[in-house]
Amino acid sequence: MAETELSQIKSSFKTAFWVSLVAIFVSALLLTVLPWDIKLKLLLLTFFSVAILISLSYLQRKERQAWAVSQERLNKFSHFVEKSREINRLIVERGGFLPIALKLAEYFKEVLMASQLVLFYKKTKAYKVVLISDNSISALKNIHLSFHDPLVHQLKSSSGPNLQALEVQDLDSEWVRRFLPGFQKGQVLIYQSNDKIEGLCFFLPDSSFSTLDKEFLIWGWENLKLSLEFQKQAQFHKEQTKKLKEKLLVLENQPAQSEFKKKLFDVETFLNSAQSLFTVLEEEALLVSYLNLVQQQTNCKFGLVYTLDEKRENWIIKQSVGMDFKDSRYLNFPVTSKLATFLKTKPKPQNLLLATEELKKDPHLRNLLDNGIQLGVRLTSRGQFWGMVFLGEKADHSQYQEQDLELFFILCQILNSAWENLKQFKKIEELSYTDSLTSLYNYRYFHKRLIEETLRAKRFNRTLGLVMFDIDGFKTYNDSYGHQAGDRVLRQLGGLLLTTTRSIDIASRYGGEEFCIIMPEADSNECLKFMERLRRVIAHHPFKDEFLAFDHHITISVGGAIFPSDAKTVDKLIYCADMALLRAKNAGKNKAFLYYEQEPVAKR
Ligand code: GH3
Ligand code: MG
Ligand code: MG
Repeated sequence: MAETELSQIKSSFKTAFWVSLVAIFVSALLLTVLPWDIKLKLLLLTFFSVAILISLSYLQRKERQAWAVSQERLNKFSHFVEKSREINRLIVERGGFLPIALKLAEYFKEVLMASQLVLFYKKTKAYKVVLISDNSISALKNIHLSFHDPLVHQLKSSSGPNLQALEVQDLDSEWVRRFLPGFQKGQVLIYQSNDKIEGLCFFLPDSSFSTLDKEFLIWGWENLKLSLEFQKQAQFHKEQTKKLKEKLLVLENQPAQSEFKKKLFDVETFLNSAQSLFTVLEEEALLVSYLNLVQQQTNCKFGLVYTLDEKRENWIIKQSVGMDFKDSRYLNFPVTSKLATFLKTKPKPQNLLLATEELKKDPHLRNLLDNGIQLGVRLTSRGQFWGMVFLGEKADHSQYQEQDLELFFILCQILNSAWENLKQFKKIEELSYTDSLTSLYNYRYFHKRLIEETLRAKRFNRTLGLVMFDIDGFKTYNDSYGHQAGDRVLRQLGGLLLTTTRSIDIASRYGGEEFCIIMPEADSNECLKFMERLRRVIAHHPFKDEFLAFDHHITISVGGAIFPSDAKTVDKLIYCADMALLRAKNAGKNKAFLYYEQEPVAKR
């Protein structure tokens, strides 16, 4: 679509150019042929101006149209980003497979603009079915599609990797005729992963189906997989919460002061909403919510959560409540400190005022005590010591009681589970953005980040470089040494790319043997320098292959474009980098070129 927009602009430029030229030619002709009269002169000038004005306004209109189209695409994209977030939220809150599948179906319907849609999703024994007709969505409880149905075999043999659109009438299926009588004329999409059909989607489309829609659809399926993993986690936490509640019940039945009973009630209210902590998908937000709860429940003046620094050498304050931790470096301490070793061995919170004299000799503990810290506890998940929490004195200056420690302990256990949950979610999210062959980011991630980075560049008035490259003659390489040898080259290239780019650059596999690098804050100079360096590094790199006796060399052709000087939209930026790459190919390959305004549109 980007190409059509650009060719529209180009052709309107052409029209303007020709109209002006003809106007000039006609004026010149008239001026020479006719007698030199003042009225005629004015007439000619008027004619000339009107012609130019008409052509310019025509050009402007075309440009505005193209801009509107690209804006619409951007809006559509943002809309689906929001939609997919909404799905994730719903999944976490509601639980149960069916609500997720229903929500997903609704999402697909919107993406595909289909009047009717049937969604199949893989369960342990067969594919389950969800039907959407106009505004109603229902799960077809008694209908399912067996893994061994001839339809499944037929689909497997006729589909390619990932997503493939087929016409329903091309499939001769008894199952479709029987259960989906209206669907003889629709389309079917198959989502495969690892050669297994994960889901199908039959639909009667209202409009034609584009590559972009396909991208969204893959995204949708990934969301579903992600959600299922997430649900397993949610189940785990439900059980955890149940156990904690039982524990609370035991405590409640013990004779205790009324103050404590009140607190138990508070915690119970908290536990009932504990699931909400599990829906927090950002570290910072999770720690803030946790610390607020701790402060509410224990009435501490301030609280600190410590985690390890990047080098894993020091415990540093990650989040705090009741005090500003930004200038609190003096409270950090090394992993080797006695205090950390002591807390590591104690599962329950410790009153540090009661520490042994021996332990109190530790300067780091002394430092914390001097700064008003009284309680400390370790944080662990799956046996890993990931953090510590310290609490200052109580706001009313009273002493911490046994019950306070018990409550603090319960809250820490909840935090541990929620932390584990968050890490799992991040891992799964990361996986859905990773290309399995090269371990680089995939196209989906690239596109999402390019949108984010261009918005950021615009906000801060900065430039951004986009570099795309394509391996030269890779088909021949595959033909000579086999596809698997080609894959091994791609894998090594992924690693090489990571060591050649800056840490802020985002290197991804665009598709096949095409790669791209987003270079935040880079200008044309830096971008070109990098492109040239990359080209040389790859050309000189000996690619190893365990099955081949000698090292291999490959070359690449590189194209780059700069935001916003070359392009002000994501689509145009990709287009410009692609055009520069094309020029590098046409100039004999193994070259690196930046886009320039008069880039000729050539054929590959
Ligand atoms: P050019 O110099 O014009 O780029 O020539 P080329 O042969 O590289 O042509 P092109 O880029 O159009 O061809 C891409 C080839 O890359 C086709 C396919 O054989 C190969 N290819 C694409 N994806 C993969 C992959 O995942 N693994 C392997 N081994 N080869 C791939
Ligand atoms: Mg290619
Ligand atoms: Mg190539």
